[in-house]
Amino acid sequence: LLQLFMPLNFLGFVYREIRRAVTDLENMLGLLTRNPSIADKAEATELQISGGCISFQQVSFAYQADRPVLHQLSFAVGSGQKIAIVGASGAGKSTIARLLYRFYDVQAGQILIDGQDIQTVTLESLRQAIAIVPQDTVLFNSSIRDNIAYAKPDAAAEMIDKAIDMAHLRDFINSLPDGDQTQVGERGLKVSGGEKQRIAIARAIVKGAPILVFDEATSSLDSLSEQAILSAMRDVARQHTSLVIAHRLSTVTDADCIVVLRQGHVVEQGTHQQLLAQAGEYARMWQQQAQQKK
Ligand code: ADP
Ligand code: MG
Repeated sequence: LLQLFMPLNFLGFVYREIRRAVTDLENMLGLLTRNPSIADKAEATELQISGGCISFQQVSFAYQADRPVLHQLSFAVGSGQKIAIVGASGAGKSTIARLLYRFYDVQAGQILIDGQDIQTVTLESLRQAIAIVPQDTVLFNSSIRDNIAYAKPDAAAEMIDKAIDMAHLRDFINSLPDGDQTQVGERGLKVSGGEKQRIAIARAIVKGAPILVFDEATSSLDSLSEQAILSAMRDVARQHTSLVIAHRLSTVTDADCIVVLRQGHVVEQGTHQQLLAQAGEYARMWQQQAQQKK
């Protein structure tokens, strides 16, 4: 009997390990295959984070040689600041997040974090520095607590509790029969889209990365859930450099800088007030979305 059990146990172990090794981001961005050309350079150094400043300098990129997606993109975000990327679907917003995490390399220009070209640092140190809250979060068949600690299974208990508070999950968890030990996922408790996104925010906080990326983290939610997520995002963003990709403009009015992307080109950038005053693309999008709300 023991002989029969051992391999089964072992298979379970291998399965869990493999699942853990598939990073959250790869799941989330739907990139199941690794790009073999993305690897550490022989002389790669560890990324040294001082403030988490991000700078895109004349970045151009295409997935396929004849179809450019980003054209000489430049923008910068200072330490602890919040930058927003807005634009229509297909404009290239998620591509910016993928390039920052180095799922692909730029074809021209540079992406710098605290002055270091991300192509010159180790992938591990780069990806440690960035946490992403995606549009659709995958929950595993495990407890809420395990799901939150997923990016860092050895996280301290205090860290997980802090993340639960910061992500505004405490009341939700207290309302559950088994608290944070409640099983979620396909085989467990069904959680709403908003709760799932707050679990994703808690997960990103536990990772302890200085840079946070939100890729349309609220776009599939109703406006009540959106408000709850937004206030969670604002609390967290105060302590990080954040890049917020949004289709709904109401989520980014407080950004230090809003970059308006159209077909891979930066067409405008500035604060909400500056862009409204310019009466250009952003102002037009703002009008349009205000109309839809009525
Ligand atoms: P957004 O997030 O603004 O909706 P994306 O950055 O996802 O836009 O995509 C920008 C453009 O790149 C789109 O035209 C999209 O079809 C194309 N694209 C995205 N991912 C890939 C891919 N893996 N291979 C080829 N083209 C892609
Ligand atoms: Mg996208």
